[in-house]
Amino acid sequence: MFNPALVNRFQQIETPFYYYDLELLKATLKACADASFRHRFLVHYAMKANFNPRVLDTVQSFGFGADCVSGNEVLAAINHGFKKEKVVFAGVGKSDKEINLALDQDIFCFNAESVQELDVINELASAKNKTANIAIRINPNVDAHTHHFITTGLEENKFGINIWELPAVAEKLRQCQNLNFLGIHFHVGSQINDLSVFQNLCLKVNEIQLWFQEQGFTVKVLNVGGGLGIDYFLPDKNSIVDFESYFQVFKDHLQISPSQEVHFELGRALVAQCASLISRVLYVKNGLKKNFLVLDAGMTELIRPMLYQAYHQIENLSRQQSAISSQQSAMNHEPLTPQTSNLISYDVVGPICESTDCFRTDVALPESERGDLIAIRSAGAYGEVMASGYNLRDRVQAVYSEG
Ligand SMILES: *Cc1c(COP(=O)(O)O)cnc(C)c1O
Repeated sequence: MFNPALVNRFQQIETPFYYYDLELLKATLKACADASFRHRFLVHYAMKANFNPRVLDTVQSFGFGADCVSGNEVLAAINHGFKKEKVVFAGVGKSDKEINLALDQDIFCFNAESVQELDVINELASAKNKTANIAIRINPNVDAHTHHFITTGLEENKFGINIWELPAVAEKLRQCQNLNFLGIHFHVGSQINDLSVFQNLCLKVNEIQLWFQEQGFTVKVLNVGGGLGIDYFLPDKNSIVDFESYFQVFKDHLQISPSQEVHFELGRALVAQCASLISRVLYVKNGLKKNFLVLDAGMTELIRPMLYQAYHQIENLSRQQSAISSQQSAMNHEPLTPQTSNLISYDVVGPICESTDCFRTDVALPESERGDLIAIRSAGAYGEVMASGYNLRDRVQAVYSEG
């Protein structure tokens, strides 16, 4: 991903910054668009993963819809050219203001997450003399086999409506004159690499759609959410997710009638690999037991390692020759010790005044010096968008591959 010319370009730029490879983004979007189009599946981009304006414009240009989780995301989607008939709005705590805004924009659908929310949307829609399209977000109690911090589809999670509440939902839907039931919605977690999780989800969706049909409802939309994972260990080898296999699972296991639409809400899988956080080594601290690389980027620029114990590949771009062997050892998942190679084990940390401000411990890197450029890979999803101003830090900048 980083040829010498690009590293030279980075030398001229103040760090830290996010570097976006827009060619890789486009190739990823095209792969997803092609694979979904084959089955006539509709994909909404989960814009909370990355709402950088250039990213939004690029995603929109491929014709995807938008999956929003706040009123401001609904507005941003529409302002960036996403068609309002392709905007869905999820979230466990939609405020009245946000619901009104989405009603005013005539979005495609609300993904409702509680019986109380149905009442509120119905009331607000009635006041505007409008009918709101509704999909019911159901908690299918499917274990996503992902990190427990990012699982959402279990009964113990705050998201969605539990299966035992569905009779009350059906009753409510019959009562509410200003709600139009479109279908059912699911989202069981994030960074899911085990496709059998989605297979299990399909079986639950089949049971639940049958239940709604037995109650006399027409289920037009099956929205199976997002959550498809990416390869954080080998970002260059597996830079684009295998969308074909992913969609095939749903084709094979979901019961889809010709009048139904299948919707997806992918975030991470579309944008994670297209960006790296580029930083410089400020100081090298050699201790008795530990060596530290202190970077000029920290949890204020990329919080995933600190928030979710997430893994990111870390490379020293100023010493690329040796960086190659570091990648190869990561491929074999070998812990490297200084004795067995010319690599040194560093804890890679940020400058923020928190002990948890550490990107990774025991990273095998070539001997590094102040000023070296460091790339933290696969940072395009839940990266720049989670940047904060803690410690009154400057807002992290973005740099793009073209122009
Ligand atoms: C976050 C989110 C997504 C996208 O999740 P990814 O793991 O990034 O694909 C989809 N749907 C809903 C409702 C979400 O909250």
